[in-house]
Amino acid sequence: MSPPTPEARLLRAAVFAARVHATHKRKGASAEPYVNHVLEVAQILAEHGAPEEAVLAGLLHDTVEDSDEDPEPVTPARLVAEFGEVVAGIVGEATDDKSLPKETRKALQVRQAPKKSDAAKMLKLADKISNLRAISASPPANWEHARRVEYVGWAGRVAVGLKGVNPALDALFEATYRDAMARLANEA
Ligand code: ZN
Repeated sequence: MSPPTPEARLLRAAVFAARVHATHKRKGASAEPYVNHVLEVAQILAEHGAPEEAVLAGLLHDTVEDSDEDPEPVTPARLVAEFGEVVAGIVGEATDDKSLPKETRKALQVRQAPKKSDAAKMLKLADKISNLRAISASPPANWEHARRVEYVGWAGRVAVGLKGVNPALDALFEATYRDAMARLANEA
């Protein structure tokens, strides 16, 4: 068999992610299928000139973190076997250590952002863009105004360490962040 085309690799990762996230929903009030989020992250990356490996990692970025309670969790080794070292490595950089308390993980994201590879920085920035859009369009029903303000502010602090690799992505984050903050200010 000839080596897979970029389109075939992309679709294989999309199907893999769709299967892993088949029963997962977004936290927002509209409870969108989780796969919508990873497709959006990959789209943002592809539309802003990110390399193919980063786009693939965008599709796969939550498969390890969000399958930890599944009968067959996705392991980093499985991602290496299916998609190669580079893609698996980017996913690994974008995966939080879930054994740590949530507040520690959030603080670590701010501190470790500047140390990530360029591809992981782009992926994490696209992830934050998608999450800020979701907070604006369909916030979780039980998230008070103050909690949403705190979340958007935290995303902005993580983004400080992620910028400087891809100016178009930096600009999109800025616009999305400003829009999210403006909406929250209007609500207050
Ligand atoms: Zn994500």
